[in-house]
Order: sequence, then C-alpha cells, then structure tokens
Amino acid sequence: MVSFALHGVGVSAGVAIGRAQLVSHATLEVAHYAVATKQVPAEIERFELAVKEVQRELETLHAAMTSGDVPGEFGAFLDVHWMILNDPTLSEAPKKIIAEQHCNAEWALTQQMGVLVEQFEQIEDSYLRERKNDVVQVGERVLKRLMGRPGTLPVTKAEEQTILVAHDLSPADVIQFKHHHYGAFLTDLGGVTSHTAIVARSLNVPAVVATHNARQLIRDGELLIVDGTNHVVIVNPDRAVLSEYRLKQNELDIARQKLKRLRTKPAETIDGVRVELQANIELPDDLEQALENGATGVGLFRSEFLFLNRAGLPSEDEQFEAYRAVADGMDGKPVTIRTFDLGADKHKEGLDGLARVAPNPALGLRAVRFCLAEPRLFLTQLRAILRASHYGNVQILVPMLASASEIDQTLAMLAQAKETLREQGVPFNSRVAVGGMIEIPAAVLAMDAFLKRLDFLSIGTNDLIQYTLAVDRADEAVSHLYDPLHPAVMRLLSLAIGTAKKAKVSIAVCGEMAGDPLLTRLLLGMGLTNFSMHPAHLLNVKQRVLQSDVSAAKPIVDRIRRAGEPRKVLALIEKLNA
Ligand code: PEP
Ligand code: MG
Repeated sequence: MVSFALHGVGVSAGVAIGRAQLVSHATLEVAHYAVATKQVPAEIERFELAVKEVQRELETLHAAMTSGDVPGEFGAFLDVHWMILNDPTLSEAPKKIIAEQHCNAEWALTQQMGVLVEQFEQIEDSYLRERKNDVVQVGERVLKRLMGRPGTLPVTKAEEQTILVAHDLSPADVIQFKHHHYGAFLTDLGGVTSHTAIVARSLNVPAVVATHNARQLIRDGELLIVDGTNHVVIVNPDRAVLSEYRLKQNELDIARQKLKRLRTKPAETIDGVRVELQANIELPDDLEQALENGATGVGLFRSEFLFLNRAGLPSEDEQFEAYRAVADGMDGKPVTIRTFDLGADKHKEGLDGLARVAPNPALGLRAVRFCLAEPRLFLTQLRAILRASHYGNVQILVPMLASASEIDQTLAMLAQAKETLREQGVPFNSRVAVGGMIEIPAAVLAMDAFLKRLDFLSIGTNDLIQYTLAVDRADEAVSHLYDPLHPAVMRLLSLAIGTAKKAKVSIAVCGEMAGDPLLTRLLLGMGLTNFSMHPAHLLNVKQRVLQSDVSAAKPIVDRIRRAGEPRKVLALIEKLNA
C-alpha cells in the first residue's frame, strides 16, 4: 500500500492512530473502499442487481403514465433514461472498473459517470450537451439503489480506533458523533473556528480540517495517523513512522496525566493575580469533562445544541430540565446559559429557514436577532432559564448584540417572562444576572450602552475576528485571512477589556482564543482575569497561568497594542512567551 501525507489545518491537537471510516452527510456522497479479490464477483452482482432494480423502477413509471394524464414529454424523457441506463457505457463499464480496480460498485459507477459527463461537456450541440443531466440522474438512481444495499466493509480490529473521514460535517453531525468515540476527525472543508471544529475540539480528539481531498484519496479501512498538532495526516504509514508516532502518543498520555494533578489547584499567577477558568459546554453531558478538568464555572453553555438533531423543538420543560441539570451539577458555581444562537452555520430545519436563504447568513437573522424575530421561542427559553435559576447560580448571556435597542428589547422580554412565572407562582431568581456577548466591532466601539444596561460581558473572539476582518469563519477558502493576532483585533480586545474594567463591569473571553495557552499571557496582560474555554484546554491554560507574571507581561502587551505591523505583533507575542 502506498504511504502518503496530507496537509490540512489541525484544529484539535494530539495524535490518533486508527482505521479510516468514510462517511457522508450528503446522501449522494460516495464511499470508496477496496474489495477483496474473492469478493469482486459479488460486488459486480450487487451492481447488476441495482441496475435491474432501476430498470423495473422506470418500467413502473412508464406503466403509470399510460393510465394517468401525464404530459407526453414525460414519456420521451423516460425513454431517454431507459436508453442511458441500458447503454453499455453505464451498465457494463463500471463492472470492468470493479474488476480492474477492486473497488466498490458505488465508486466504480461514480468514476464512470464522471467520464461520461466530461464527454457530454465536449459536445458542441447544446441540446445533446444538456443530456449530461440525464446521465447524472440515471446514475444517481442506481447509486441510491446501491446505497440501500451496502456491500461488505473491511472489518476493523476491535482494539483499533476509528477515524472519521468526511467531505464536510455540520455542527449537528459532529455533536451526534459524541456517542461514537471516534479516535479523530478529518474533513476536506472547514475553518479553525467553524462550529464543526469547535465541537471536534470539545470531543477532545485530534482533528484536521481543510485537507481538500482527503475523502477522495483515503479508502475505508486504511491505516491513518492524524497529527492534529502538526496539521498532518499520514496514510498507510510504514513501520518506522508508526512506531515513532506510538512513542509520541505515549509521551502525550504521560504529559496529560501529569497535568491532571493541577485539577484542584487555584489558578493564580506568580504575582498573585487570581484567574477564573471556566468551561464552554454544548450539552449537559459535557459537565463531567468540565468538572474533571477543574472548571470553576460554566462560562458558556451553547444552548442552541439542544435544538439540533431532533424533530420539533425542545419544550419549556425539556429545556428547564437541561438547564437545571447543569445548574445542579455545578453546585453553586456560576452557570452562564447563552440564549440560543441559531442561524449562520447552525441550522435547525424548518426553524431557521429565513436565516438559511439569506444572502449572507452570518450577517443575517442569527442569534439574538433571530430570537427577537421569534418572540414565542425566545420567551419559552427565557422562562426555562429563569426556572432553572432557582436551582443554582444561573446567569443569562445574550449573543451577537450590536445595539442598545436589542438589549432593551431583550430585557423587556425577560421582564415579560418573569411576570408570567410570577403569575403562575413558579420560583426563580428575580435578580438573575444578564450579560451580553461582545462579538461585533460596533459593540466594542460603543460599549457605553452595554455597560449601562448589562451585568457582565463576555467577548466571543471567534465572531469578533470574523466580523472585524470580514472573513467567514466557516469558509476554508478564506481561512488564511482569519487572523486572531491582526493588529485591529489586538486593539479591539484591549479596548473592550480596558473599558469594562474601568467601568467595573466583569468581562470574560469565551472564544477560542481563551483556550490557547500561547495567548494566555497576552490576555492576562490586557487585564483579563476570566477565561472560558473547552474543558480539554483548561489544565493547559492553568499551567500557563501558574507560570505567568502579569506585571512583566503588561509592558510587552502595551507595545502589542501600539504595533501596527503583523510581524511586530508576532515578534512581541514570541517575546511574551519566551
Ligand atoms: C464566539 O463567537 O467567540 C463564541 C464564543 O460564540 P460561538 O463560537 O458559539 O459563535
Ligand atoms: Mg459567537
């Protein structure tokens, strides 16, 4: 087997060694795997059967036509499909590919469809050229049949980990994989702070995104090494590379065990600055990992994940139970529940249709904008959170605020939710703290309105960077422009933290920057004392806090704030971490 390496962007560090499992979330994405020599005839038979089934399907359609009043051109169209299906280029050529390449039938057919489409595209006559769509449609009919009757996948040994390889994954897909215990994730698309990458990180497994064509080049069952730290994937590694990586994996395990000793140690810098290290969670189950890693609170509960992967919406009671479970579990420590942030890359079928068809979803009806446009849903969630506030130290966080009027409307809705509960005699904390996320440059530059109206603030650097630099965080085509260390980002962050501190309003950072130990001193030097991040990063960041001296960092951070050149910022960050 040929050994080769693929490069991408490591979005979750660590090393995993295991067998590839190709998945698709688009129904017609096609798996590619090797078929053992003795199974080739069975694979060819599987293809023949699928073609026969489609023949019958077309015959049934034709028969139905003669009985009903279907337009005549539909008959002609079925005839064309019949001819295409029975042409040897579609019904015979794939069999030859299976036999020659020992690959699965779906893959053989897809390859042949590619060849045919290309031939059609060369045709001058525009009518004939258009027939390529018919070829695709017929091919897809056969593919669907094949997928309904999957072939035999190579068996993975029980002790080997499985590595998921996909073209793209939505946050909803990844959250589903929480229960599957994959050893690593690999995708063709994706950016560092796409929600997909964030969720992969929360699973605490290595992940490499933006590999461009991993899904095409890797076959099911192939041995892979995923090195999330060095942004590389090695396919079919040789013995020497494999043993080197096994050694590396051991070293990482030992280092991880050592870090665990810091779990109960308070996070305090060398010069005595006490720091809060809180956890970002997506679902109540994540609490366990947060507590294992010594979180002093939940700084961000991304409540929208309760809305994904399900039919219908979670009821008020269901939401209440989820929020109460977290409040209970944290035993008096702060639990910051963010009101749902749907839209942009997190979709809920039938709910955010408006946001999805928007010309630019990231600038559209997302987060609080969506909540204010759907007051019934928003009120339901606010009541559920308020009810949970009776059972722990709950606070409410509102995402993507840009203007004072949005805060006023949100507070008015909260007052309405409180009134309803009062009338019903349901207990809640009437003084529940309400905070706002600082994710849009406008919020930093006009923070007065936020400081006056809200109890606390939390900077969502993932979005703040996206909106400052006008770079879609989920689009790998522009991921090279997504730069957390851009001088403009440095200035906005420093301004936000400084302004809140001056006004004596608590401010946290809950974006991905908070979980990067290379940026811990930068944020400490800006005056930040409240960090919220994925539980997997808590102990690494704590170790960094314990090794830092804020008074020594401050003068360098002041220079970073003044630096206009990216190179200068980088050099100063290096100095900070020396
Ligand atoms: C952020 O934008 O930094 C943030 C924490 O929120 P999310 O990543 O869920 O948009
Ligand atoms: Mg955000």
